Amino acid sequence: MVRFLTDVLSRDALRCINSIEGPTLGRSAALPRHRPFLQQSRRTLHHDHDIPTPAEPKLDGGASPQTSDPRWESFKKSFEFPKATALGNFRPGLDVTIHGFLGKRRDKGSALTFCHVQLGTQNVQVVSSWQEEGSLQHNAHQELKAIPAYSPVCVAGTLQETGKSDNVNAGKTWDLKLRSVQCLNPFPKDIIVSKDAVWPPKSRHLQLRFDPLLQDRLRLRALVAARLSKALRSQKFTQIETPVLFKSTPEGAREFLVPTRRQGYAYALPQSPQQYKQVLMAAGIPRYFQFAKCFRDEDHRADRQPEFTQLDLEMAFASGQHVMKVVERLMNSVFEMLHEDFVPTDFNGTIHPVRKGTSDEPKHRMDVAGNTTDKDTPDAVPGFQKAKPPYSRWSYDYAMSVTGSDKPDLRIQPPHASNIYRVEHLLSKDFVSMITRLEDPIVEACKFRLEGSPHDNGAFIRDFFDNLRNTPQKLGADSTPGVFIFDSSKPLQGLSALGHEGAEGLASIDEQYWQQCEDGDIIMIHARKNEPFRGGSTELGKIRKMIYDTAVEKGCLPKDHSFKFLWVHDFPLFSPTEDDPGQGGAAGFSSTHHPFTAPLTPEDLDLLKTDPLRARADHYDLVLNGVELGGGSRRIHVAEVQEYIMRDILKMTDQGVGQFAHLIEALRAGCPPHAGFAFGFDRLMAVICDVPSVKDVIAFPKSNKGEDLLVGSPTKTTPEQQKTYHLFQKS
Ligand code: ASP
Repeated sequence: MVRFLTDVLSRDALRCINSIEGPTLGRSAALPRHRPFLQQSRRTLHHDHDIPTPAEPKLDGGASPQTSDPRWESFKKSFEFPKATALGNFRPGLDVTIHGFLGKRRDKGSALTFCHVQLGTQNVQVVSSWQEEGSLQHNAHQELKAIPAYSPVCVAGTLQETGKSDNVNAGKTWDLKLRSVQCLNPFPKDIIVSKDAVWPPKSRHLQLRFDPLLQDRLRLRALVAARLSKALRSQKFTQIETPVLFKSTPEGAREFLVPTRRQGYAYALPQSPQQYKQVLMAAGIPRYFQFAKCFRDEDHRADRQPEFTQLDLEMAFASGQHVMKVVERLMNSVFEMLHEDFVPTDFNGTIHPVRKGTSDEPKHRMDVAGNTTDKDTPDAVPGFQKAKPPYSRWSYDYAMSVTGSDKPDLRIQPPHASNIYRVEHLLSKDFVSMITRLEDPIVEACKFRLEGSPHDNGAFIRDFFDNLRNTPQKLGADSTPGVFIFDSSKPLQGLSALGHEGAEGLASIDEQYWQQCEDGDIIMIHARKNEPFRGGSTELGKIRKMIYDTAVEKGCLPKDHSFKFLWVHDFPLFSPTEDDPGQGGAAGFSSTHHPFTAPLTPEDLDLLKTDPLRARADHYDLVLNGVELGGGSRRIHVAEVQEYIMRDILKMTDQGVGQFAHLIEALRAGCPPHAGFAFGFDRLMAVICDVPSVKDVIAFPKSNKGEDLLVGSPTKTTPEQQKTYHLFQKS
C-alpha cells in the first residue's frame, strides 16, 4: 500500500518538475525538454470530459534542478511562511499575519488598491497604498498586483477595525494595511473563474472552493455531528467503531463485495452496523453509538447514495419507547442549537442556516469577483423553532390512509391541502369505471386550494400532469386520476362528470381536514386495489406530495418554513418481496425493516403461526417534512425466536440462516432485551439545509450512476488486479 502511494507521488512529482518552464531541470543534459504540462493541456474546466490526462513524462536519466526557475523558487519559498495570527487575538493597530485566498483586486488609481483575503469564514480586506516609489509599501503593492486572484497567500500588515454588525455577538470586520504579501502557489490562468461559473462534478474542489454555501453546509454538518455526539455522551452512550470489512449476510439490501487474495473469498461492506451493534448489547455494552459509513448497492435516487452516513445507536434493557424518547432528545438538542445560533436565511429560495454573529454571515462574504455579496442580499425568514418533544405518532395504516404515504409531510394541511378521503360511497359506478378497470376498488379524493383563480389553477394542474409525463416518475396503471376544478359559474360547479349525486356529495363534505369547496379548488380522485396497504406510498399519496411541492416551488402556495416531526410506527412485520433481495427466503415476503425486528405485541408474535402478514412490528420511523430521517426497532433478543423467524417464517435456507450464526450465538449467551435506531445523517443535514439532494451536504458525493467523478471511480480492474484477486476467472 505504502509502495503504491509512493509510486503515485513520485509520478506526480515528475509531472510537476516537467511542468516548470525555463532552463533544464533534469539531472542529465540529455533529458528532453518537455513542453510545460500546464501549457500542454489547456483546460476548459467547465466541461466534464475535456480534461486530458497528461502524458507520462519520461525520465531517461537522473534529474536534479540546476538553475533558478521562478516556479521552482516559489515552491522553495513556500516551504516557509509565517504562522497566522488567531482571529480571536485581532485588535485594532496590531501587526498580524493572515492566510487565505486572494480575491479580485479593486485598483483605485496606481497607488491604492483593495483586495479581500478569505479563508473559511474569515474574510479580511487588504488595503494597499504607497507614496514613495521604492518604499516598502510600494514594493508590497507591486507584489500584490503581480499575484493572480484566487491564489493562496500569506499577508502581513496592521489591523484597522472597520465596523460591527448590529448583533451584539457579531464579528467585527477588519481592514489590513498591507506590509508584505507572499504568494504560496499562483492560481493558473486556464481556470476561468466567473460569477456564473458552474463547475462540473469532476471539479468538486472548485465547486467547494467557490460555493460558500456548500462550504457552510459542511461546517454545519460538523457542528451538528459534534452536538449529537455530546448529547449522546451526556446520556451515557459509548462511541464504538465497528468493522467496515464485514461479511455477506442476507439482511435486506444488495451489498458491495470486497474480493480478497484468497481465491473465492470476499468481505462485504456493511449495509449498516446492525449486527455488530446487537452483538455489543450481548457483550454487555449498555448504550452504543457511532457515525457509521454504510454501503448499499441500490438504485440511485436524489436522496440515496451507495455510501452514506448513519448516526447509529442501540440501547440494552430498553424498548422502542425508550429509544424514541432518546431520539427526540437528540433532535431537540440539535434544533436548540439551530434556534440559538443560526438564522434561516433565504438565498434565492433555499433557506440556508447562517451562523449568528460571525463574519460567516453571507453579507460579509466575498463573491468570486472579490466583492462582498451585497447584491442578492439574503432575506431573513422566521427563525428556527425548537423541536420540542413529544412528536406526533401515527400508525403506518393511519399515515397511509390519510396521506397515502408512510412518510407524511405534515406541512401539507388545510387550508392549502386536504387529507385523503374515501369517497367510493359518494360516486356512481359509471364515474368509477371511467377512472379504473379495477373491480370493487377503493376510491379516494384529496383537494388543493392554491392562490389562484379557477382558470389559473386549471392551467397549473394541466402543466403539472404534462410535466409528469416527461419525468421518470411514472404513474401506475390501476387508475387515471380524475381532476376537477371547483367553479360555481359552471354546471354542477365544474363537477358534472361525477353526476348530480356525486358532485353534491363531494361539494358538501365539510370536515376538519376537508373544508367546504370553494371556487378554484382542485379535486383529485383516484382508485386503488381493495387490499391492505403495502410499501411506502399510494399513487394518490405520491401525486398529493408532488402537487404540493410543485405549487410551493411555483409560488402558488406559501413556503412553510417549519420543521414538522412525526413518528410512524406499527409497520407490518413483513412485506411482499418486491425489488429488494430481502432475506432470500422462499416465503414470498421479507422483513419490512430487517429480520431482527421484534413483533409489536405478544398477539403479533402469535400471529406468526397463523397469519404472519398480519403481524405488526415494533418498528418506528422518524419523519421530518416528508423525509424519512431514520428508523429503528425493538429487536428479537432470544436466539430460538430469531432462528424460528428466519427458518420457519421467512423460509430461509440452512445456508442463509447459517450466515447469521454469530448473531444467533450472541443472542443465546443471555443477550438482554434491546432496541435501537439509526439516523440517515446526510438526509437530516439536507432537510436542515433545505437542499433537495444529499449530494449538497456531502463533501465528495457519488453521481447518480454511483461514480465519483472527481477521482474517476470505480475504475476498471487491471489484468494484474484480476489475477491477484482471482476476478473473472474460472476456479
Ligand atoms: N440498521 C437499521 C437501518 O439501517 C436501523 C436500526 O434498526 O437501528 O435501517
